[in-house]
Amino acid sequence: MTHTLDDRLTPELASRAERLLRALGAEPPAPGDLVARTPITGGQLLTLAPHTVAEADAAIARAADAFTRWRTVPAPARAAVVRALADLLRTHKAELGELVTLEAGKITAEALGEVQEMIDICEFAIGLSRQLYGRTMPSERPGHRLMETWHPLGVVGVISAFNFPVAVWAWNTAVALVCGDTVVWKPSATTPLTALACHTLLRRAAAAVDADPEVHQLIQGGAEIGARLVEDERVALVSATGSVRMGRQVAPRVAARFGRCLLELGGNNAAVVTPSADLELAARAIVFAAAGTAGQRCTTLRRLIVHADVVDLLIERVRHAFEQLPVGNPLDEGVLVGPLIDARAHTALDAAIERARNDGGELLCGGERVPVGGPDAYYVRPALVRMPAQTEIVREETFAPLLYVLTYRDLDHAIDLHNAVPQGLSSSIFTTDQREAERFLAADGSDCGIANVNIGTSGAEIGGAFGGEKHTGGGRESGSDSWKTYMRRATNTVNYSAELPLAQGITFA
Ligand code: NAD
Repeated sequence: MTHTLDDRLTPELASRAERLLRALGAEPPAPGDLVARTPITGGQLLTLAPHTVAEADAAIARAADAFTRWRTVPAPARAAVVRALADLLRTHKAELGELVTLEAGKITAEALGEVQEMIDICEFAIGLSRQLYGRTMPSERPGHRLMETWHPLGVVGVISAFNFPVAVWAWNTAVALVCGDTVVWKPSATTPLTALACHTLLRRAAAAVDADPEVHQLIQGGAEIGARLVEDERVALVSATGSVRMGRQVAPRVAARFGRCLLELGGNNAAVVTPSADLELAARAIVFAAAGTAGQRCTTLRRLIVHADVVDLLIERVRHAFEQLPVGNPLDEGVLVGPLIDARAHTALDAAIERARNDGGELLCGGERVPVGGPDAYYVRPALVRMPAQTEIVREETFAPLLYVLTYRDLDHAIDLHNAVPQGLSSSIFTTDQREAERFLAADGSDCGIANVNIGTSGAEIGGAFGGEKHTGGGRESGSDSWKTYMRRATNTVNYSAELPLAQGITFA
């Protein structure tokens, strides 16, 4: 049963947020100019003081100082902090999940999933701490050994987005810490309370194993505070998650000082549905990928590229499912679609639908506001729009539940359409034909960092490397060998002979 929400609920949610912070070990912050709101009603939860530029610089200095000691702690010993963090996350999964719901508006199942993802990456990082392998190569010179060693890199600046307020931090922090780096985190100004909670848990984890608490720093505020990480030479790696617009500002400035950047930017993810697809399975996967998290995942499905023979059938299924989706308070059981983050997101959705219609698109369902939550809350029914062509608006990322449907006739055409957008994050094909599946995964198939078969575009596991190409930024984080971005590589040649042969057979005498 979905409640009718209004402003009377806000004070209750605010005291709930305060209770949750205390349960997680964080003192509710002193009031200030940074406002933590809940998208559930649009009302204010708490306020806190943003960090000043001087405080951000001091935090970077503390992290740089801590790095000089942390890098010499053996990696398996560094993992003790991450193990303690995982223990705390298990204990506090429900509380942190609820805080994610309050601050980011995710339904409970997805908020708990986000905390589970944090636990998963901690486990991955703990194992990784004993597997930071270098290689040994055959030397061309007698009596010589040639090898590579991986060393800690330095201070990692983590800039994160509102929509994964805790998991993205954990992806970076768990791996960075075992790699011997220290972390300065600048979370989204939209989600300061979950950030405070995570910082507190990490500090508690460090205390539990007698590690230096200064290995993790939190700086709160907007882009101007994030810019300190971007400009500061002491920050060896800037791992930035957010919009392409943010990446355009950050990447050249980090490059100008020869810093390293790991960019996880916007996506415009598509699924190709072929005539052989299991349409029942495809429709279920499509609905979760397009409407889950109210369309506010970087991997949200935004474009459906469907064979002409099955397009009407598939549209009917997806339309029916969209119309039935329970939209409402994400704290309520049974609700599957929570609120948009704010008014700006709603304006962007409206504007995109308008532009799509001007381009000849037909709104098949959704897009309208659902009247719960009061005037400052933005709940919408996921929208399905059939497009005659992949126009400019379809090529843009609209961060809301808006799914465009395009039609294709042969697979080459589908793949051309699929790749003809600036972003390159996630992609899927629904087919039971192995040739089609393999073609999609081949070098001339999907150009994305993630390419799936018979599952949706969202919901990646932490074991694989996560990230995308083109305007998505080219970064990879989370599993596989993403850890290499957080370390520096040294090539070592050791001469254990009494001779001094030169490489390439050069004589110098
Ligand atoms: P955003 O770009 O508005 O903000 C992201 C972060 O960057 C915030 O912490 C913000 O304060 C900071 N920031 C913005 N400009 C900056 C600057 N010039 N210097 C330093 N820091 C700056 O993004 P958002 O609205 O919070 O999140 C939604 C966007 O993030 C979507 O485009 C989504 O696709 C993307 N996203 C990508 C991934 C991924 O892994 N590829 C994951 C989550 C979200």
